[in-house]
Amino acid sequence: MKYYIRSKGDATSNALKAKMERHMTNVNLIEDQDNPDIVISIGGDGTLLQAFHHYTHRLGETAFVGVHTGHLGFYADWLPHEVEKLVMAIHEEEFEVIEYPLVETIIRYTHNGRESRYVAANEVTVKTINGATLVTDVTLRGQHFERFRGDGLCISTPSGSTAYNKALGGALIHPSIEAIQLTEIASINNRVFRTVGSPMILPKHHTLVVTPCNEDRFQVTIDHLSADHKDIESIQFRVANERIRFARFRPFPFWKRVHDSFISSDES
Ligand code: NAP
Repeated sequence: MKYYIRSKGDATSNALKAKMERHMTNVNLIEDQDNPDIVISIGGDGTLLQAFHHYTHRLGETAFVGVHTGHLGFYADWLPHEVEKLVMAIHEEEFEVIEYPLVETIIRYTHNGRESRYVAANEVTVKTINGATLVTDVTLRGQHFERFRGDGLCISTPSGSTAYNKALGGALIHPSIEAIQLTEIASINNRVFRTVGSPMILPKHHTLVVTPCNEDRFQVTIDHLSADHKDIESIQFRVANERIRFARFRPFPFWKRVHDSFISSDES
């Protein structure tokens, strides 16, 4: 079992990383930053997102575990005082691997059939570069659906449904459901311009394509990573074939995490 520990970089997370590495050495576990079987992220959900993007080329081989040094996270659900127990469980390989869906994004450019592909664990957002109104055609399964005008569009995974999507009024989706969710970011709706206005949940194999109507330069944000893209012909979204794998050492049901994060951490 080869491991790598990624810290958020603050003093608390770094100290916990050093402590965990000592425990790992004591049980002869091997550190391998390039080809880890298991990646432990210490910090928060944002730290786990960074770790995920570092290893998107080997999602089939690497499983993730999150330890939180701040508040309870959706991906980071182990507590600092539990790390010794965690090391022993890794050493004895006493865990199951659970898999959550990702969203695949393919950006196609107007020149030379060029395209780029990304996967996101939380969501992808599409906005204009200069803050002007985004005007795009939205196509679902090859059929024109609507012309969107507004601040942007958010396409999220089930595990990302508790993040940006939630702030946009999207539904919380259990990560066992293979789907992506489209939510609007401040659409313009009046007698002239009309969008559906409701979040929409698309099953696996349904494709969603966003096509620029006038401006072909967009800001596309994949989880925490933003980049400006120009000469965009279209952007396609669907459930990705690959998945993010989590090493689960004890049950912590999704709805319990939702309750503890958003309602109360009390047992009552
Ligand atoms: P950030 O702006 O530093 O933090 C965003 C917050 O989202 C953090 O509290 C983070 O938790 C939390 N978060 C991340 N993934 C989550 C999930 N799956 N469920 C519930 N909460 C989650 O940015 P960041 O840490 O680099 O994270 C990037 C994420 O920020 C994006 O993927 C997006 O979902 C989110 N975001 C949210 C809004 C919004 O709610 N209005 C706007 C922009 C971006 P931790 O503190 O544990 O890291």
